[in-house]
Amino acid sequence: PTVLGIEGTAWAASAALYDTETDDVSISSDAYQPDSGGLHPREAAEHMREAIPAVVEEILDEADSIDAVAFSRGPGLGPCLRIAGTAARALALSLDVPLVGVNHMLAHAEIGRHRSGFDTPVCLNASGANAHVLAFRNGRYRVLGETMDTGIGNALDKFTRHVDWSHPGGPKIERAARDGEYAELPYVVTGMDFSFSGIMSAAKEAVDGGTRIEDVCYSLQETTFAMLAEVAERALSLTSSTELVLGGGVGQNQRLRAMLGEMCEARGVDFFAPEARFLRDNAGMIAVLGAKMLAAGDTIAIADSRVDSGFRPDQVPVTWREETGV
Ligand code: ATP
Repeated sequence: PTVLGIEGTAWAASAALYDTETDDVSISSDAYQPDSGGLHPREAAEHMREAIPAVVEEILDEADSIDAVAFSRGPGLGPCLRIAGTAARALALSLDVPLVGVNHMLAHAEIGRHRSGFDTPVCLNASGANAHVLAFRNGRYRVLGETMDTGIGNALDKFTRHVDWSHPGGPKIERAARDGEYAELPYVVTGMDFSFSGIMSAAKEAVDGGTRIEDVCYSLQETTFAMLAEVAERALSLTSSTELVLGGGVGQNQRLRAMLGEMCEARGVDFFAPEARFLRDNAGMIAVLGAKMLAAGDTIAIADSRVDSGFRPDQVPVTWREETGV
């Protein structure tokens, strides 16, 4: 089957085509880039409204036939989700094919499992609006650890906004950190959960107080990524899993990948990070998980398909994979 995926949780208006026979994924995306400051929800929704038709049209041009439409039901910004959801419903109705409602965070996790061929990995999602560690047990992905305040990417972006760097801030922090040395910042892991807001306040105070910005960027990466690696490592230990996959836009960061790679190597664990186009928000991951759900008969009636901005990954009964131990 061929599945059309639609992604529109926040800044990326994206459509994709996934062919289960060839395993080919083709993605067309149009990212909202704020002129100044961070992501404004109203402007993101306006961008979504303008960009969705064009990315869908581009992908439809490539398709011979479409067997289902999959879309992200959440979590995300309500106004963006509603626009992408409306497009998905209209397409499913006009093509007369089933509709599949995908949890965006599970798509971030599953794309790594799909591309790696791993069986029961622990999944670290390091995205803009989220940061959490998932593991599969008894038919669901359980959230073993998560942020108690902002997502990791949004936290990094808040810092760069403070120093007047344009959005997105993550790649700029990565560049500046190359010339940095360690400056002290708080490290906040409580149980299996992390908190980033105090670290960001301390980072802002440090630059305001005259600490070199390169040093603050270096320490921001070392501190927050060590926190992610610590919780991921504990999740590996708790589940006895020997596989770790990375997901989310912050997963493009080379330093984070290196730290996780080192930790996994030391534990004898296989580590996989998907290529960049599958890490940042993209409809490819929605189409791939959508195809698995379709194969399991896990489709959704139009009447039940309203979006859910607070949709948690552990709310989803996992229909598409065999129960395997961990
Ligand atoms: P979510 O998936 O939780 O809805 P999101 O929609 O904001 O999040 P993603 O595409 O997963 O989006 O991630 C975007 C984030 O990734 C931004 O905060 C951006 O700063 C960050 N990012 C991108 N590249 C890098 C990098 N090289 N290093 C660190 N962070 C990065």
